[in-house]
Amino acid sequence: MAVNGDKADERRRELAGRLARVEERIARACDAAGRPRGEVTLIVVTKTYPAQDVRLLAGLGVRQVAENRDQEAAGKAAACADASLTWHFVGQLQTNKARSVVRYADVVHSVDRARLVSALSSAVRSQGRPPLDCLVQVALEKENGSGSGADAAGRGGAAPGEVPGLASAIADAPGLRLAGVMTVAPLSGAYAGRPRAAFERLMDISRSLRAQAPAATMVSAGMSGDLEEAIAAGATHVRVGSAVLGVRAALR
Ligand SMILES: *Cc1c(COP(=O)(O)O)cnc(C)c1O
Repeated sequence: MAVNGDKADERRRELAGRLARVEERIARACDAAGRPRGEVTLIVVTKTYPAQDVRLLAGLGVRQVAENRDQEAAGKAAACADASLTWHFVGQLQTNKARSVVRYADVVHSVDRARLVSALSSAVRSQGRPPLDCLVQVALEKENGSGSGADAAGRGGAAPGEVPGLASAIADAPGLRLAGVMTVAPLSGAYAGRPRAAFERLMDISRSLRAQAPAATMVSAGMSGDLEEAIAAGATHVRVGSAVLGVRAALR
């Protein structure tokens, strides 16, 4: 037991140090952009790391966590049910997983097609849970056919032109709340290697969306490697995994 306790303590210190460095990066990026620190929320992406790490993070003051696979997330969320965390689902979501995801997720960042909107809506209604916040995931590599399909297909997301229609579908769906937009900096197409330009484009899309739905203010963009660019562009939520938890063993 003493050995386990020491290990947990060591891990806690490691996470605290990494978290502090990420906090510092966020604060500096806000400063550089002339934005108050309070405008940006850190979501820690805990995928591939155990529930024990989630509990340690909760103890360090983390309140927002994200997962990208239902099978892994469901068990972890259950194991941390007493930690008063907000759970974000950020991965590609199959419609047959909607019922499971709405049991623990507070926010789904990866809504990218009408069928998923209906599946989430009926899952929320059948469970009688509070409304589910939904973001439209935008695949900027799908803009005007500028991208290879492979990258887009692998990571999900709707083409920019599909955003207004999907946003209306979410806004009209019982049990769902349209919360904003999300993107992952593209690896292909016109925005490959240009995260700042990609995030600026996402901000344009967000502005158009807010003209139609003023409450849809969330802009989820930026990860360990590009959170500064996202904050400079105007992101309200950054999703940071490896910079807090360490490099993942297997790429997912
Ligand atoms: C894994 C993941 C992240 C975090 O990525 P890091 O590079 O580890 O910070 C953010 N968003 C999504 C959608 C992810 O799948």
